[in-house]
Amino acid sequence: MISFHPKYIDLQAFSAGNCEPAMALMISAHVDMCAQCQQDCIEIQADLAGELFAEQAIIKPLDSDYLEMMSNITQLPIAKSPVAQASNASIELDGKFFELPRALRRQVKNTGNWSRLVGKIWQAPVNLGGIGKANFMYMEKGGRVPEHTHKGTEMTLVIDGQYGDGIAEYDCGDFTVMNNQHKHLPHSEADDGCLVFTIVDQPLHFTAGIARLLNPFSHLFFK
Ligand SMILES: [Zn+2]
Repeated sequence: MISFHPKYIDLQAFSAGNCEPAMALMISAHVDMCAQCQQDCIEIQADLAGELFAEQAIIKPLDSDYLEMMSNITQLPIAKSPVAQASNASIELDGKFFELPRALRRQVKNTGNWSRLVGKIWQAPVNLGGIGKANFMYMEKGGRVPEHTHKGTEMTLVIDGQYGDGIAEYDCGDFTVMNNQHKHLPHSEADDGCLVFTIVDQPLHFTAGIARLLNPFSHLFFK
């Protein structure tokens, strides 16, 4: 069940088309997975349309047909994403296929090969063309990313499975934004591990124990 959503103010910016590209991609992918945020976006867009038409109404009053049409639009049921048939609707690791939210499918062609980082952590870089450093990250059961904080922000969307980080437990569809105020230790105990999509704007900074030795190599987490 999804417990972590984008902030409402970010949904508003996204709906109005005023969002930073990296955040817009993340929110778009989350909204594909989240009925609640789909509904919020529909309502925000209806409000935005209402404001626009209210301005126009100064010139021309809205007639009842028009209001009825608007009311029908805003009551449209939420469209369910069709079941993915295309081969680029999923990514594969070791024979396992992970279905992607619609907004990330067009990134499959920009995704590089998997490489093993530390322990049971796998990473595949995604070239977004300069809007942030993006990766698919897969934690096998028992896999741990060493405890770290962030110099910039780290946005994470859970695509499949569950993980925890000492702050909370995250399920499929959960979206989080971490910054230098957050120190965390992502790990997965799920039987099928956990696949996440992340975008960071600065390298990670490892904070604990022997993992500090990784700091000179933190660019590996920042391809
Ligand atoms: Zn949501």
